Order: sequence, then C-alpha cells, then structure tokens
Amino acid sequence: MSLPRIVVVGGGAGGLELVTRLGRRLGKRKRADIVLVDRNPTHIWKPLLHEVATGVLDSGLDEVSYQGHSKAHGYQFQRGTLSDLDRDTRQITLAPIVDDDETVILPARTLDYDYLVLSLGSVSNDFGTPGVADHCHFLDSPQQAESFRHDMLNTFLRYSAPERRVHPNLAVGIVGAGATGVELAAELFDASKMLHSYGFTSLNSGQLEVHLIEAAPQILPALPIRISKAVHRELEKLGVNIHVDTRVTRADEHGFVTADGERIETDLSVWAAGIRAPAFLSELGLATERNHQIKVKRTLQSQDDERVFAFGDCAACPQEDGKLVPPRAQAAHQQASCVYRNLVALLDNAPLREFTFRDRGSLISLAHFEAVGSLMRGASARSLFIEGRIAKLFYASLYRMHQFAIHGAVKTGMTVVVDGINRYLRPKMKLH
Ligand SMILES: Cc1cc2nc3c(=O)[nH]c(=O)nc-3n(C[C@H](O)[C@H](O)[C@H](O)COP(=O)(O)OP(=O)(O)OC[C@H]3O[C@@H](n4cnc5c(N)ncnc54)[C@H](O)[C@@H]3O)c2cc1C
Repeated sequence: MSLPRIVVVGGGAGGLELVTRLGRRLGKRKRADIVLVDRNPTHIWKPLLHEVATGVLDSGLDEVSYQGHSKAHGYQFQRGTLSDLDRDTRQITLAPIVDDDETVILPARTLDYDYLVLSLGSVSNDFGTPGVADHCHFLDSPQQAESFRHDMLNTFLRYSAPERRVHPNLAVGIVGAGATGVELAAELFDASKMLHSYGFTSLNSGQLEVHLIEAAPQILPALPIRISKAVHRELEKLGVNIHVDTRVTRADEHGFVTADGERIETDLSVWAAGIRAPAFLSELGLATERNHQIKVKRTLQSQDDERVFAFGDCAACPQEDGKLVPPRAQAAHQQASCVYRNLVALLDNAPLREFTFRDRGSLISLAHFEAVGSLMRGASARSLFIEGRIAKLFYASLYRMHQFAIHGAVKTGMTVVVDGINRYLRPKMKLH
C-alpha cells in the first residue's frame, strides 16, 4: 500500500521547519512521504535579507541546500514553482524550469498529494503606485537582496570618481518604515563605514543621505509607541532623514514624488512598504483576502478544503479577537508547529488543534549601533522594554532558534563556532 503523501510548497521560515519535523517523525519512519517544493535550490532565513542586501551577511555562507538538508531529515525535495492546483484530482502543477537564456531545463510537471501545505510567504505591496515596479528595489527574495547589493556597490564605486557624481551626496530612499525599512536604513550606515575602511575612501558616512519615508504618523507603526520613539531617536542620531505622514505617489529613475508634490531625489530607491501574498493564490479556487492571503480556519486548514493547509505570511488566520495573525517570522514558526501537530493528528485520526498566536515581543536591530525591543512576560503578557546588549543578544537568538529547528542542537552549536572563526578569517562584509 502506498504511503500518504504530504506536499509542502515553500521552504521558508515556516515551511522548512515544518518539513524538518515531518521528515523526522513521519518520513524516516515510513509513515508518510514528505515532499518539499521550493522555487529556489537553497534556503536563507528571510529576516536576514536586509543584511544580505548591504553585504554585512554573505548569503553563500548561511544558505542551506534543500537537497542536502532533505537527505539528512527524511523528506524529498523538488525544485519548482507552484503554478496551479487541481483539488478534484489532488494535484499541483509546477511551472517549467528555464535557464537564463530561456532553455527549458525541466518541463511543467504535476505532483499528487494527499495533504497539501502552502507556505509561500509574501511580497512587498506597491499598491499599484506608478513607477515603483520599474525603478525600485525590493527585498522579497535573496535574488532581489543580491541585486540591491550589486547596485549599491556600483553606486559607491561611482562616488569614488567625483566627476561622475549626479548628486553631492549618495542618496538612498526607502519607502516603508516597518522593520525591513528601519533595519535597512541603519545597515546602510554600517555598510558605508565598512566600505570606507576597505578602500572606498572618497565616500564617508557623512555623505550618505538616507531618506526613510512612511505614510503613517510614526515609524514602526505596527509596534508599541515606546519602541517606535526609541528607534526614531537612534535613527536621527545616525543621520537618517525621517519623513512620516508622507505618502509616495510616484517613483521614477531620480527618486520619489510625494502626495504633497515634494520630490525626494535618490541614487538608489527601495520599496519596503506593505505586504501581500503572491497574486496567483487568488486564482487557485480557494477563498482569499484582497491582498491574496488564503483564508484559513484556526486549524490552519483552508476554508474551502480540509486537505489544503496554509500558514505564514501567505495565510489570513483569524485570532480569538477577530484580528488576523501578523505576518512575522515568529508567527510562521509557531504555526509550523501547529500544522505539524495537525497533520500527525489527521494520520492518527485524532482531533485537530486550533492555532493561538503567542506574541513573544518585537525586536529591532540597528546594525552594530543599537537594538531595541520588547519581550512579553509570562501569561500576563506584560511587555518588558529592552535595549542595548541584552536586546542584541535576544535579536541574535531568534536566528539561532530557527537554526536549532532546522539543524538540531549539535549542528547549531557548531555553526556558532564556525561563525566566530569566520569573523577572524573573512572580511566583515561581502565585497564582490
Ligand atoms: C528584510 C526583512 C526583515 C524582516 N525582519 C523580521 C523580523 O525581524 N522579525 C519577524 O518576525 N519578521 C521579520 N520579517 C518577516 C518574516 O521574514 C516573514 O514574516 C517570514 O519569513 C514569513 O515566513 P513564511 O514561511 O511565511 O515565508 P517565507 O519565509 O517568505 O518563505 C516563503 C518560501 O516560499 C517560496 N516560494 C514562494 N513562492 C513560491 C512558488 N510559487 N513556488 C514554490 N516556492 C515558492 C520562497 O522561495 C520561500 O522559500 C522580515 C522580512 C524581511 C523581508
């Protein structure tokens, strides 16, 4: 008799943790076939992308090969991009894989499932603002982060030849002062200092002009006001130009135009405002929100099909108070545990659990300069404000927890040691 097949599409912050647990518990014991599908051959934890974008983190050192990981953890990996779903025949379709020159490497394929889990993440939402898609960088994928890094290095290089400068300062405009925009703004100052020390001497951080543009009245609008104010102060100390209550209505090759008609001139533009799920999710026949997130029940099964689960950024999951679970790495991590338990329960004919989001707090890292955040204390859920070294330590532990979930204790411990050694052996940033 063939084993039930669980297909998980999207090996990101949540999906990779899920297949690791399913593989260990069901795959290795031959209770189910576990298959992970991802459009990329390697995994990098998405909250690190702003560090990849500035070169502070070398993605080549931190990425995890799905193929290698799958062998060690009892699941199979198939590279592919989900393009269609047939719930009647329980099949998904993966788009053809093509080379850079459009040569087809693998034609379109179908894959059968008994249970399907969608954990495809999200992308930035430009809300149809004219010019954004053509003139802005996004930080939604490792490829986009690398593309920003290449442009950033080229722009810095251009500033080494003063006669080729367009503006007296190197101006970077970031739209969206959520965690991504705020952390990127600080990383840019860190990167410019490091690049200066590595020989880009004609540009110092005083010539770096970073504009952080936010439509809401405060930066970090989703976080407590105390964190927002503390981060605001730190960014101002660094020299970031903060524009709150400022809505961008157009982007072009020279920067942004705001609703007040003001022009913000930039050499590099980044769009990091708002999120939405991939648009094709609204064409799969499952109920979705306006931002294409799949509507799920609190068991994380889609509202229309109990064999299809969705979680993480691509799912709209109601909480007890009716609000939706926020699109955050800690939510994807917690939901991965819930989906894992529910899939095991389905195979055991046991009842399913409902997901409850436990907010453990929020942390914002301002590169090497500062970290600020809050931790939730116990059942009372009172928040404890932290900053400085302690906040930095907690911030670093978030990634270590993800590594622990996908590698286990021994390998995570070894990674900590290797990272420490690399700090001595390698340049502090990726310079090529
Ligand atoms: C720069 C940055 C900083 C952030 N910082 C924080 C932070 O400090 N704290 C926090 O809580 N959250 C943070 N976030 C948000 C956090 O990264 C996301 O909430 C989290 O990654 C969501 O996890 P996920 O598993 O739903 O999706 P993801 O981690 O995005 O994974 C989605 C996966 O699906 C794959 N995929 C997508 N489409 C397809 C397809 N059609 N076919 C096959 N595979 C596909 C992708 O390749 C990817 O591997 C940050 C995000 C960014 C961009």
